[in-house]
Amino acid sequence: MLNLVLIGPPGAGKGTQARILVEKYGLKQLSTGDMLRAEIAGKTALGQEVEGLMADGKLVPDDVVIRIIRHRIRQADCAKGVIFDGFPRTVNQAQALDDMLAAQNLSLTAIIQIVVDEAVLIDRVRERDAAAGVSRADDTPEILAKRLDVYRAQTAPILPYYADAGRLARVDGMMPIDQVSGEIDAILTRAREAA
Ligand code: AMP
Repeated sequence: MLNLVLIGPPGAGKGTQARILVEKYGLKQLSTGDMLRAEIAGKTALGQEVEGLMADGKLVPDDVVIRIIRHRIRQADCAKGVIFDGFPRTVNQAQALDDMLAAQNLSLTAIIQIVVDEAVLIDRVRERDAAAGVSRADDTPEILAKRLDVYRAQTAPILPYYADAGRLARVDGMMPIDQVSGEIDAILTRAREAA
C-alpha cells in the first residue's frame, strides 16, 4: 500500500508524473480537478455549484473535496494505493486527509513537492493551452495568474504543515520529465524502506 501526495503549482507536472506512477506501480490517480470537471460535464448539482469558482481559478470549498475524497478512497480500485493529485490544497484538507487515512489505519507514504519557477509555469500552461485538443477553461494567462495567487496564499501553507513534521520531500520539476520521475522513484524507494 503506497499513498502519495504530489504538491505543486498549476503546470508543475503533477498530472504527468501521476500518470507515470499509475503505469509503474498500478496505483490509482485521484485528481480532484478531474473529478470536479467530470461533475461539470455531467451537469450534476455539484458540477453547477463549482463551475463558476473553477472558471475563476478559485478553490472549491474544503468540505466538497474532502467529501469526494473520503468516499473515493474506500473504493476497491484504491486498494493498492493512491496518488493524490491536486489534493490537499489547503491545510484544512491536509489535516482531513491525515485523519481519514488514520481512521483506516493508513498513512501517507510520501509527500512530494514539485518545485518549478513561475516563469516556466506560465510558458508551460501557455503551451498546454495551444496544444490541447480539449482546452481547459481555466488555462488562460489571466486565470493562471489567479491560480498562482491562490496557490501561494492557500496551498503553499501546506508545505510547512508537512515539512515541520519531517514528511516533505522535494524534487526539481524543471528537469526533463524522465529525470523528475527518476527522483520520485528514488524518494518512494527510500520511503518504503523506512516504513
Ligand atoms: P486542477 O485540475 O488540479 O488544476 O484543479 C482545477 C480546479 O479545480 C482548481 O483551480 C479548483 O477550482 C478546483 N480544485 C481542484 N482540486 C481542488 C481542491 N483540492 N480544493 C479546492 N479546489 C480544488
